[in-house]
Amino acid sequence: MTVKVGVIGTGMIGQDHIRRLTQVLTGNKVVAVSDINKEQADTVAGAIGARAYSDGVALINDSDVDAVVVTSWGPTHEEYVLAAIAAGKPVFCEKPLATTQEACLRIIDAEVKHGKRLVQVGFMRRFDAAYRQMKEVVESGRIGAPLIFKSVHRNPSVPPSYTSDMAIVDTAVHDIDTARWLLDEEVKAVSVVAARKNSRGGELRDPIIVLMEMESGAIADIEVSVNIDYAYDIGGEISAETGVVTLAERNRVTVKSGGEFHGKVTADWKERFVEAFDVEFKEWLEAAAKGTATGPSAWDGYAAAIVTDAGVEAASTGSRIKVEMKEKPALYA
Ligand code: NAP
Repeated sequence: MTVKVGVIGTGMIGQDHIRRLTQVLTGNKVVAVSDINKEQADTVAGAIGARAYSDGVALINDSDVDAVVVTSWGPTHEEYVLAAIAAGKPVFCEKPLATTQEACLRIIDAEVKHGKRLVQVGFMRRFDAAYRQMKEVVESGRIGAPLIFKSVHRNPSVPPSYTSDMAIVDTAVHDIDTARWLLDEEVKAVSVVAARKNSRGGELRDPIIVLMEMESGAIADIEVSVNIDYAYDIGGEISAETGVVTLAERNRVTVKSGGEFHGKVTADWKERFVEAFDVEFKEWLEAAAKGTATGPSAWDGYAAAIVTDAGVEAASTGSRIKVEMKEKPALYA
């Protein structure tokens, strides 16, 4: 079956996902795109022979669209995801699922009423081969129960518009989802401590450690450092009862010369996670062809919102903030 896809939001990542759908993956056709900037929608649609809309809801209700990708600005996500659920269409939504916990709960309520999963949230690390191997090791039981997850999220630099809260809401959010997924449990409380400031970041609270206490008592600590200059570097290690599993360095070759050896570190998140994004969309299309969704759910989007809210509060107050989630609907068991 060919899944006829409509893409809402033709900015940076929207165009990258359109490239992925049209040039990398099969089993789909991008038939419609929309953007609040209609000229941009026209240009992107023209290049791939799709229809262009300025209104995302009109795209969702186009009877020729089977499944929807939402890559517009975060505050618009709730409206489009709810409209896709109302139309009974599978929807891939880039993170955040919505910008408030209440909005995430409205999406969960709508999906639960629909009775079947339709929503997939764009936490692409769950589709990364290295993280998947890490999870397999944990689930195999060969290193015993996980006790500590250390995550490292380093960016070479961020634009002037980047705020201290974005280090939690936009950056650490991926590590938060990864911790919940790898450890297979929810977060109980969050604390944030800031290190001595990196002078390259001006007044930005950078770097920080986000410390999460998980339900089992396991701990997840996330280093977020967004002005570290040398590269985009992602690290992860789980220390368990009888062993440790660590994400390996990703360079395919090392160069030895002059008494030293060197390997490459990725330049940015697009390079580091390019294969993960491809697998994410491949698996989304397979699920969409069956009229459903897979991977990170609306529940995971809600968990991310509630934990990042707690993180922002912890950072601004210096307190340990408890995380109290609603009861998980059976749909997400
Ligand atoms: P972007 O370049 O600003 O693109 C957003 C696009 O949506 C822009 O073209 C914007 O138009 C358009 N838009 C705004 N309001 C709209 C509306 N009401 N209807 C339709 N289109 C609308 O941003 P981006 O970097 O691509 O990010 C988009 C989303 O992807 C964000 O939620 C971001 O968090 C997420 N993202 C996720 C990852 C990841 O690692 N998974 C990475 C990057 C981004 P204007 O330019 O005219 O406002």
